[in-house]
Formats: sequence, C-alpha cells, structure tokens
Amino acid sequence: MSAPRVSDPAPPRPAVAVIGGGPAGLMAAEVLSAAGAAVTVYERMPTLGRKFLMAGRGGLNLTHSEPLDPFLARYGQAAPALAPMIEAFPPAQLIAWAEGLGQPTFVGSSGRVFPRSLKASPLLRAWLARLQAQGVEIRTRRDWTGWDAAGALAFRGPDGEEAAAPDAVILALGGASWPKLGSDGGWAGRLAARGVPLAPFQSANCGVASAWSDLFRDRFAGQPLKGVALRVGDAAARGEAMITGYGLEGGAVYALSTALRQALAAHGAAVLEIDLRPDMSAGQLAGKLGRPGPGQSLANVLRKAVRLTPAAINLLREAHGRELPRDPALLAALIKAVPVAVTGMQPLARAISTAGGVAWAGVDQGLGLVALPGVHVAGEMLDWEAPTGGYLLQACFASGAWAARAVLGVP
Ligand SMILES: Cc1cc2nc3c(=O)[nH]c(=O)nc-3n(C[C@H](O)[C@H](O)[C@H](O)COP(=O)(O)OP(=O)(O)OC[C@H]3O[C@@H](n4cnc5c(N)ncnc54)[C@H](O)[C@@H]3O)c2cc1C
Repeated sequence: MSAPRVSDPAPPRPAVAVIGGGPAGLMAAEVLSAAGAAVTVYERMPTLGRKFLMAGRGGLNLTHSEPLDPFLARYGQAAPALAPMIEAFPPAQLIAWAEGLGQPTFVGSSGRVFPRSLKASPLLRAWLARLQAQGVEIRTRRDWTGWDAAGALAFRGPDGEEAAAPDAVILALGGASWPKLGSDGGWAGRLAARGVPLAPFQSANCGVASAWSDLFRDRFAGQPLKGVALRVGDAAARGEAMITGYGLEGGAVYALSTALRQALAAHGAAVLEIDLRPDMSAGQLAGKLGRPGPGQSLANVLRKAVRLTPAAINLLREAHGRELPRDPALLAALIKAVPVAVTGMQPLARAISTAGGVAWAGVDQGLGLVALPGVHVAGEMLDWEAPTGGYLLQACFASGAWAARAVLGVP
C-alpha cells in the first residue's frame, strides 16, 4: 500500500446524526467528533440533558466503586450483553472523564461515586463546551418523527418539517419514565413498525403502593425509616425507605422493584417484609423487650430500649393492629419482619428508570439495529435495568461510546 501523498484529498468525514441529547447520545457525539466525524445532535426539548440534570438533584451518582464482577452482576439478565461495553468504558474511565471536565469525584460511604459539586450542571456545561469545540452541531427543538417517503430522517422543528440524510444514525432516545423531561418512549411504535423487536416498558427503581390508614398517612407521610432491611421472597436490600402518601419510596425499595414487580405479576399481590432493627437478632430484641422499666408504656420501651422512631412504632401498629403483642418473642419477631401489603408499583411516569425497550435480539454486536442497517441504539432505550447506585448512568455512557465506535468501525 502506498503512503498518502501531500496532494491526496482528505478522506470524507462521515456525517452522523445522534438523536437524543441525554448522557448516551452526548457520549456518542463526543467519541464520534473526537474521531473527526461530522456530528449533529438532534434533541426535541429546548435544552439538552434534562434527565441528567434531574439526576443531579440527588447528587448525581455517576457510577459505583465496587469491583467489576459484582458491578456487572447488577445488570441481571442483560449483564452478558452490557459487559463488553462496560469493560471498554469502565467506572475508572468514567471518573477520569468527569475529572477531565473539571469535576473531581469522591466515593460515598455506600461505595457510590459522585462529583464533589454534587451537581450535574457544571459537568454538563463543561461537556457541552467540549462538544462545541469538537465541532458538534446541536439542533434542539427537533422532534424526530421517523423516516420520510425518501427514507430520510424526519423531524418536526420550530419552522416545520425538516429532513436529514446522514451516513449513519445513533438513536439515544431514553426510556419512558419522567416523560416531561423529554423521553416518553414515543419511539417504540416507530421502531416496532419497522420490525425492531421490543420488550414492553415497565417501571424500574420505583416506589410501591400500599393502602395506609388515613391516620398513618396523615401523620407519617414524608418520614423516613432509616437503616432498615427489606425482603420480598429471596430478594433483600438494606438502606432507607421513605413513607409517602401512597406507599413507600427510597433506595432500598428501588433495589427490590424487580422482585416486587415479578411477585405482583405472578400473584397479583406482594408482601414486603421490613426488618426495623437488622443489626439486632430477634433474641437480643426479645431480651430488651422483656425488661421494661417500672411504669414504662410499651411505646416507651420500643422507643427507648429498641430505639424505634414514632414512624416505625406506628408502622408496627399499621401492620398488626393497634394492640401490639405483649409477648417479647412475638413482638421481636414482628419488629424483624413487619409485613407491608404492596398493592402495585408506581406508574412508569414516576419511576427513576425504565425496564424493557429494544430487545437484545434486535441488535448486532455494535448495537446496530438488525432491521435497520446504519441505525444504532444506545442508553436506556435498550432492554436492561439495574438498581440505583450509578449503574444506570454508567451503562448509558458506556453504550453511547460503544455505538459510536461501532459507527466508526473502531473495535
Ligand atoms: C429523578 C431521577 C434521578 C436519577 N438519578 C440517577 C443517578 O443518580 N445515577 C444514575 O446512574 N442514574 C440516575 N437516573 C437515571 C438516568 O438519569 C437515566 O438512566 C439516563 O439519563 C438515561 O440516559 P439516556 O441518554 O439513555 O436517556 P435520556 O437521558 O432520557 O435522554 C434521551 C433524550 O432523548 C430525547 N428524545 C426522546 N425522544 C426524542 C425524539 N423523538 N426526538 C428528539 N429527541 C428525543 C429526550 O428529550 C432526551 O433528552 C435518574 C433518573 C431520574 C428520573
């Protein structure tokens, strides 16, 4: 092969349309533009990364510091498909990337990784400046509506219909939760009509409904149950649950949302068992409950000897009835497994993330759609789910970078 001569024309820059300006799409745009592609990002909302900014309200849990094997196991059935992408763009690279954008990170007590600013906005600002410097064209208020009769991408823009015919397309349209932030899953019908296999959307990482009494709801909605352990069937999680008007929210509840969803689908009902004192055995608790001080009421014993909050004590009553068992062993058993009847999951619009989406059978190794050559997908629109803890953003960033490298033909 002869060496290129000075007079040889530069090879044409591939034109790539990235549709969806969330973490997956913007990471794809960064990788593509860094390699010299002419990238246009299309986004239906007036500004980019609205869900990313919302994630920033909770401190922006970017990724997790645990070793890669347990990390990958968090993706459950989708772990084999996502593993090569996360191995190619692992948590350490994500941390280095954030730090390269001027956002130093720290590892929280639970192993979760956050930017020190605990915000998404400075990171997003620096990222968009980098994309601009790399020549990425951003076109907001462009709602992708499918393909026109000539096979070009069709958009509804502020001045009417627009079309684009790039060399390749990356769809990074997100899931279907929190639709007011831009991702409403409206793309599903469009792709299904073109033969792309889809798994139905379902709520993931969401709260659950429980029929509290009016008294309990009025007094305790908004109060946390801290340091509890939750169980449903064989699945268990420790952390915090927040009492809400409709039921329970919080990290430990989200961690069990797959198990709860499956139990509800199988039996129409589910029981969430709450261990209010996971750090003490039933025997230790019974010992403390069996030694009330002179004249102490049961509520006082529960508060002082067992250190239960008023919300936790009233949860016992809510589950068991106002008259709690007097027998220390029976009461200890109740504290270790308060049964809360779950009647349903919170709707998709209020879930942190979406399970379901483009089925893995519908994509090739480079996340290219088998039914639509030249069109790749990335991020939450693929059929995977994971608990909160940084696993969601990590997979979005990694799959965005992976799809971009596939478009570039780089392994
Ligand atoms: C309240 C909340 C807190 C969260 N906190 C965390 C956290 O701390 N850590 C974590 O890992 N994850 C968190 N997540 C989840 C995380 O934000 C998402 O998983 C992630 O943003 C998904 O990235 P994405 O790029 O795939 O999709 P999105 O971020 O949803 O981006 C998709 C983009 O596509 C655009 N779009 C959709 N349809 C069209 C169309 N037809 N035409 C043009 N544009 C379109 C949308 O407007 C959107 O901007 C949180 C989510 C929520 C709701």
